[in-house]
Amino acid sequence: MVIYGCSSSHKVAFETSVNTKTKPIQNQVKKTYELKNLGVYASNEFDGARLNDFKKLNDSTATVFISPENGPINNSPYYAFKTWANNSKTFYFKFHYPKGYKHRYITKIKRDNNWQIIDSTRVFLEDSLVTIKLDLDKNPIIVAAQEIQSSTNVKQWYTNLANENSQYVTLKTIGKSTLGRELPVLDIHNGITENKDLIVLITRQHPPEVTGYFAFQNFLKTILSDSELSTSFLNKYHVLAFPIMNPDGVDLGHWRHNAGGVDTNRDWSKYKQPEIKQAVNFITQTIKNNKSKLILGLDFHSTWYDVFYTNKKREGTTLPNFIDDWFAALEETIPNYKVNEAAGNSTKPVSKGWFLYGHNAVGITYEIGDTTPKKEIEQIGKASANEMMRILLNTETNLLTN
Ligand SMILES: [Zn+2]
Repeated sequence: MVIYGCSSSHKVAFETSVNTKTKPIQNQVKKTYELKNLGVYASNEFDGARLNDFKKLNDSTATVFISPENGPINNSPYYAFKTWANNSKTFYFKFHYPKGYKHRYITKIKRDNNWQIIDSTRVFLEDSLVTIKLDLDKNPIIVAAQEIQSSTNVKQWYTNLANENSQYVTLKTIGKSTLGRELPVLDIHNGITENKDLIVLITRQHPPEVTGYFAFQNFLKTILSDSELSTSFLNKYHVLAFPIMNPDGVDLGHWRHNAGGVDTNRDWSKYKQPEIKQAVNFITQTIKNNKSKLILGLDFHSTWYDVFYTNKKREGTTLPNFIDDWFAALEETIPNYKVNEAAGNSTKPVSKGWFLYGHNAVGITYEIGDTTPKKEIEQIGKASANEMMRILLNTETNLLTN
């Protein structure tokens, strides 16, 4: 017997509460900077840019000032700007962050529509300050902490994916962000959704965490690969995939927070922020409409290295053996791959805790390293989707737990 609460989503209690009320943010001034007499320019006038000031240090060097949207905040100092020069020249860019924050992301450069990682011979470290050396000419290049995947880029990707797989995917909007950007969800299933167990995939709560988004893309592509495995899987299960949870933060070039100045991955208790509130309401309504249950939630992020953050509690959850089976299968399938798992029951209101405490489901924060190569991300993303589908097709979920 399944008992539902009232129609608005019930709050989920956590050991440590975090205040996620809206706070002020510092907007960067959108402009094109010109270094007088040098003919060198830098601009943040595009989505996903972050450049707070740009000043001449000497005739061959500029200081690049980067600051966060507000604080306190994690050390995820994201930067992105365009730069060019009237005449071809070699020029140096010295990064400057507020006190307490250090350079983290290896520079990616977009030239002629191609992203490349900066050559290490062009990066200089002195007293923990990083300077990079670039060849400029009149064609602007983009210099960024991670490849830029703005809300427009993300929309292009999921719209194509939905069109190519229209037999399985219905594209929906769950609502709008604080600044009016669309909050999309891909509703994925084959045939009816009634009584089908639900899997939730989310990403881009934290704007700079693009490598996690790449894994999400590969994961979703594999679920929609039209293989025998994926077809059987979609006959039996229902997937909700949220490709951009924080579009304001992404387009504003934020280090971590949304337009409300809040880490949305601390809001999975009282849902003070519109992105989380609307996602939670949509998931809750979907479960109710289909008389189904949520069995698994994966939240794709990036950090210093690849790691799966899991919940320690397994017994009595909807899929008590899933994590062990999944990780064993990954190590068996991917050559020379060792799963890095960090288990602990969430004390703060993060999504993986919400899956566990709110739904008795398996919740995992799926983290890809900041510098994990694309080929490896593709391999992990694909294998983890295939092995998840295989395991879930061989699993009867624990019916007593809901
Ligand atoms: Zn994150």
